[in-house]
Amino acid sequence: MKAAVLESPGVLTWTDVPEPKPVGDRSVLVRVGGVGVCGSDVLRFGRGKAYHYPLVLGHEFSAVVEEVPADSRFSPGDRVAVFPLLADPADPMTQIGEYTVSSGYDYYGSRRDGAMAELLHVPEANLVPVGRQVPLVHAAMVEPAAVALHAMLKFRLPAHATALVIGAGPIGALAAQWLRILGASEVYVADVDERKLAVMAELGFPVVDASDGDTVETVRELTSGRGVDCTVEASGLPVSLLQAITAAAPLGQVMLLGDLSGDLTVPRALVSSVLRRELRLYGTWNSKITPAGRSEWDMVVRHLGRDLQVAPLISHTPTLEEAPGTFQDMLERRTWYNKVVFAVAQEARDELAWPGVVGGAR
Ligand SMILES: [Zn+2]
Repeated sequence: MKAAVLESPGVLTWTDVPEPKPVGDRSVLVRVGGVGVCGSDVLRFGRGKAYHYPLVLGHEFSAVVEEVPADSRFSPGDRVAVFPLLADPADPMTQIGEYTVSSGYDYYGSRRDGAMAELLHVPEANLVPVGRQVPLVHAAMVEPAAVALHAMLKFRLPAHATALVIGAGPIGALAAQWLRILGASEVYVADVDERKLAVMAELGFPVVDASDGDTVETVRELTSGRGVDCTVEASGLPVSLLQAITAAAPLGQVMLLGDLSGDLTVPRALVSSVLRRELRLYGTWNSKITPAGRSEWDMVVRHLGRDLQVAPLISHTPTLEEAPGTFQDMLERRTWYNKVVFAVAQEARDELAWPGVVGGAR
């Protein structure tokens, strides 16, 4: 079989690799459907941020079941989204169900070879069924949508809540949609990228052009000087975190969702105002696939294509063979990108002809 192998920083090759090996005693062989490029993948590719090289990237993926263990709840041909984290059962945090904050887990596309390959073995417990009407490239968005949901569920939304999401990339766009689904009355989205803002405006969000004036001032004006109840830092820019803290109303809540790209000095006066406003700051990491059937992942699948839209966020759907050039383009920002999802399986490529599979301001 073939895979896109990241041999060393900046060197990605589409090449023959050995067949995948079973993972545990309830291993399912799947054909990869769609696999998304995460911001972290671009850093692994171009900035030497991988755990090890060589490595096959890919932790945001859908698949078609190929071979199942005896008495499986799945059958060949079933379509699934795959939870990329392999929890360590001996970890005390795993034992209380909090595997997202455990330390010894394994992870597809980061600590072990991932889904930028034709075939993969995955534990049956990591599979979430996805309906046949859901295109495989959309099902590859279940993971980032669950990461955004995991974060937004930490907020305690007051009645008639207002929110600000800073960063209109895929994760910010998903977070904004979840806030609306979860009951926020008004969700402002800020970015400097006109095209990403256009996507969010099309989805019905009031947008703030961060390149045109002070984002915090603009949001204050929009909220009669009060600020917003919930702010989400989803851009990874240190300055955005300061803005997220500043824009919060008294008793507001601030979510640190983006992994910051650099160090940050927080002015003493701002810290003092965090005390005076009694703000709550949250960190968030990963998502949860338990309790089975009622998890964040199940919620994503239920909302996908209804009130949770992923098509407008997908800007490119190359084949996996095109991965080397695509990653280079993304690293050097030669082309405008929003979400890139490789269409790996033949079905995934065929489905691209369905109406409305890929969208956004292209
Ligand atoms: Zn990711």
